[in-house]
Amino acid sequence: MTLCLGLESTAHTFSAGVVDDSGNILSVVNDTYVPQEGGLHPLKTSLHHVECFQDVIRKALETAKTPLESIELISFSQGPGLGPCLRVGCTVARALHVFLDVPVVGVNHCVAHIEIGRLACKVEDPLTLYVSGGNTIVSAFDCGRYQIFGETLDIALGNMLDTFAREAGLQHPGGPKIEALARQSSNYIDLPYTVKGMDLALTGLLTSATHALKTHPLADVAFSMQETAFSMVAEVTERALAHTEKQNVLLTGGVAANTRLRDMIRSISEDHGAAFHAVPKELAGDNGAMIAWTGLLQFKQKGGLALEDTGVIPKWRLDQVPIPWRT
Ligand code: AMP
Ligand code: MG
Repeated sequence: MTLCLGLESTAHTFSAGVVDDSGNILSVVNDTYVPQEGGLHPLKTSLHHVECFQDVIRKALETAKTPLESIELISFSQGPGLGPCLRVGCTVARALHVFLDVPVVGVNHCVAHIEIGRLACKVEDPLTLYVSGGNTIVSAFDCGRYQIFGETLDIALGNMLDTFAREAGLQHPGGPKIEALARQSSNYIDLPYTVKGMDLALTGLLTSATHALKTHPLADVAFSMQETAFSMVAEVTERALAHTEKQNVLLTGGVAANTRLRDMIRSISEDHGAAFHAVPKELAGDNGAMIAWTGLLQFKQKGGLALEDTGVIPKWRLDQVPIPWRT
């Protein structure tokens, strides 16, 4: 049995997870940076990671009842993400690789969100809607890769919710607060709905919703913003589903915690005779377990990285990554 330590540091969260090669998750420990004001400043966020990484890794090993010397593989998020944050995880991974003399692999963060969903929901070949603070992607496996069927043309869904929440005076992360507010209203305000082919754009909606705060109650704007944005991702997901004829739909990423979004995606899935799956909440956001599990899959097929190939890749697209464990 191979035990892998996975390190996640693409954005707000430094996380470590221990997973074995049968897919048992032995631990996940997170430390998330919450800015006192404003959004995520890359450098400040990376300093948070520098301060907490030792504690997070120690706790993850303790929870897994695994001494550091039993770790046989190190996996880290190589991209996409914020450069300074990625570099913290990368540097820690390199150091452990040299110190323990065990292989190191760098995994794509978006691939990891899909793989942890496939593992946790026991679903082989889903159409995936991945919605988080940094990504909004509809994808499915085809021709050896997770092909992108639709994506945001500007900002990510979670980023839009967080930015709007900030404009409304709410603290980061805004997604859960917007969800709670939206539940208090059923008063729909007309907001821009922007789907272009299979892609969508969210900045116009963000601007209009922010303006609407001057003239409408916050709960009405929160409700209308959710309804509009979630309908847009549901439309694109539904079209990808009709085209690919996949039998399963998987909702993953931090925004997958949202009950209204789950209901909408479940509804379009059922309309097409597909089963709906949502990643369990504790694995929906960024976490080290998804990096460890994807590292194990990747290592089995391709082995470890040479030290000179472990540099971070801040703009690494999901569809650039070969997925040999599925072919
Ligand atoms: P991730 O980048 O995958 O860690 O996801 C973080 C994002 O998920 C942030 O933008 C959060 O605001 C968002 N999020 C978390 N919980 C919820 C929720 N219940 N509803 C909407 N968005 C959420
Ligand atoms: Mg993420």
